[in-house]
Amino acid sequence: MKTKYLILGAGPAGLSFANVLRQRGEENFTVIEKEAQAGGLCRSQDVDGSPLDIGGGHFLDVRRPEVCRFLFGFMPKDEWREYDRDSRIRFTPGFVPDADKREYEIHHPFEANLWELPENIQKPFLDSIAAAGCNAGQEMPEKFVDWISWKLGDLIAKEYMLPYNMKMFGDNLNALGTYWLEKLPNVSYEDTLKSCREKKAAGSQPGHAQFFYPKEYGYGELWLRMGKALGERLITGVSVTELSPADKRVTLSDGTVIEAEIIVSTVPWTSMKLTGVPQEITDAVSKLIHTSIEVTYHPEDMNTDAQWIYYPSNNMDHHRILVRGNFYEGAKGYWTETRTERYHAQAGDINFHMEYAYPVNTIDKPKAIDSILRYMKGCGVYGLGRWGEHNHYNSDATVELAMKLAKEL
Ligand SMILES: Cc1cc2nc3c(=O)[nH]c(=O)nc-3n(C[C@H](O)[C@H](O)[C@H](O)COP(=O)(O)OP(=O)(O)OC[C@H]3O[C@@H](n4cnc5c(N)ncnc54)[C@H](O)[C@@H]3O)c2cc1C
Repeated sequence: MKTKYLILGAGPAGLSFANVLRQRGEENFTVIEKEAQAGGLCRSQDVDGSPLDIGGGHFLDVRRPEVCRFLFGFMPKDEWREYDRDSRIRFTPGFVPDADKREYEIHHPFEANLWELPENIQKPFLDSIAAAGCNAGQEMPEKFVDWISWKLGDLIAKEYMLPYNMKMFGDNLNALGTYWLEKLPNVSYEDTLKSCREKKAAGSQPGHAQFFYPKEYGYGELWLRMGKALGERLITGVSVTELSPADKRVTLSDGTVIEAEIIVSTVPWTSMKLTGVPQEITDAVSKLIHTSIEVTYHPEDMNTDAQWIYYPSNNMDHHRILVRGNFYEGAKGYWTETRTERYHAQAGDINFHMEYAYPVNTIDKPKAIDSILRYMKGCGVYGLGRWGEHNHYNSDATVELAMKLAKEL
C-alpha cells in the first residue's frame, strides 16, 4: 500500500495534522491508530452517568485563540462551558511546621497562596524562601532537586515539591533536568511577601487559569469528531510495529506494509521497532523514559469547590483528585490519578491504565531527542506532539505544533 502522507497515531497531534491537510483539500493521506477510538490521552468514557477522562483530567486552555478557533470548527464554542481554575493542594496531618498536625488545603500554586495558611505557619516558609539560593545571588543549579530548593527554599521543597514530584516521577529525582521548569508559575519572594500582606495571590498564574470543558460530553468527544471528519482515511485498532525511516516504510500489527512520501510520527519512538537506523539513534531512543498512570473512579461525592486537588503526602497512592461535578454539571464522584508503580488495585475498581502518560524530562533527554528528530527529518520522517517530540506539551500546544507543521509540509 502507498500513501503520500502517513500519520502515526490519532491523538490530538495526528488528528490535527490530518485535519489541516484535509481542510486544504489534500486527500492522499492515511492515519494509523492502535486503539479502537481516536483521541489518545484525551479520550473520555461514560462512567456512572457522566464522562470520565480516561487519560486523566483534561481541560482546554483559553490562551491560544487560533487553536481554539480551529477546534471550535469541530465542536462549536456554545457546546463548551468556560471556567476559572480552582485547584488546590491538600496537606494531610504531619505537615511539619504545624504543631497541631491538622489537615490544610490551600490554592495552587503554593508560593502565591501561602497567605491562606495560619500566620504561625507562613513565617517559617517565608524565612525559607528568603534564604533560597535565587534570592541569595547563588548560581542556578543544573539538577532538579537542587533547583527546587534554590528557587523556592528548603521548606517548600521538603513539604511539597519533592514529595509531590517523587509521586509523579519516582524516587530518582536527581535524574531530572531543569530545562522544563519554565512551565512552573514564576512567583518571586517579593510576590509571596506581598500576597501574605495583602491576603491575595500574587505573581504569575499557572496554565489553565481559564479553561473550557464540554457541556454535554467529556473532552474526548472533540477528538472523536475530528476522527470522524477523516472518514476511511483513519484506520483504528491496528498498531505500527516497525518503522524503517530510510525507506519511509512501516509495518502494521496485521502485517500490512505501507510506504509513504512523508511520515509524521506522533507515537512513542519506543513503541515500535526501528530498522536500518544508526546505533547512535538506537541508543538515543533507549534514553527516552516515560511514566504510566492509573485513573480510578470513586462514586462518593467530595465536599469542595475545587476542580482538582494535588496530594503531596506519601500516605496515599494518588497524586491528584479530579472532582468532576465542579466542571461537569450534575456529575457525581471523583477520580484519582496515580503513577502505576504506586497503584494498589482494590477489588471492583473502575480503573483505566495509560501506559504512556508523562515523558520524563531527564538530563539526557534534550540531546537524545534532538539527534532522533534530526536523523528522522533527514529521512522525511517528522516527530510531532507529546511523544514524537517527547515533551510535556498540553493538547492546545500540540494542536498548534501540528497546524504549523501541516502548513510547512
Ligand atoms: C494526566 C494528564 C493530564 C493532562 N491534562 C491536560 C489538560 O488539562 N489540558 C491539556 O491540554 N492537555 C493535558 N494533558 C496533555 C495531553 O494529554 C497531551 O498534550 C495530548 O494528548 C498530546 O497529544 P498527542 O497526540 O501528542 O499524544 P497522545 O494523546 O498520547 O496520542 C498518541 C496516539 O498514538 C497512539 N499510538 C501509540 N503507539 C502507537 C503505535 N505503535 N501504533 C499506532 N498508534 C499508536 C496512541 O494510542 C494515541 O492515540 C494531560 C496529560 C496527562 C497525562
